[in-house]
Amino acid sequence: MDCIFCKIIQKEIKSEIIFEDDLTLCFKDLKPVSPVHLLIVPKIHITSLFEVDKNNSHYISKIFENIPKISMDICENGFRVVNNNGEDALQSVEHLHFHILGGRQLGWPPC
Ligand code: 5GP
Ligand code: ZN
Repeated sequence: MDCIFCKIIQKEIKSEIIFEDDLTLCFKDLKPVSPVHLLIVPKIHITSLFEVDKNNSHYISKIFENIPKISMDICENGFRVVNNNGEDALQSVEHLHFHILGGRQLGWPPC
């Protein structure tokens, strides 16, 4: 499968890995939009949240268990978790991922 994040998970493409466990991988975004801009992904190919169901939701649970552990020290004043899901949300990589953004005051609304 020609998926860039699967290749990052398989270490076929280099990335700056921040955290890894059996189910998830967290790495730096290639084009950061804030001082902290990480991506956390499931280690199986799930295209988007539209594909999440009871068979794979343990990956999502692990992602949200890991986000505070990863962000606590590097974003002590807070952070934002973003998921661009599907075409209208401008999802550009079709492997489910959550952005962790922080390190500065963020704007709102994001649209
Ligand atoms: P999306 O727009 O799908 O929510 O976000 C995709 C993100 O993946 C973008 O922020 C983009 O910079 C990042 N990205 C795309 N290709 C690569 C890559 O090869 N390596 C890394 N580290 N990030 C990537
Ligand atoms: Zn993939």
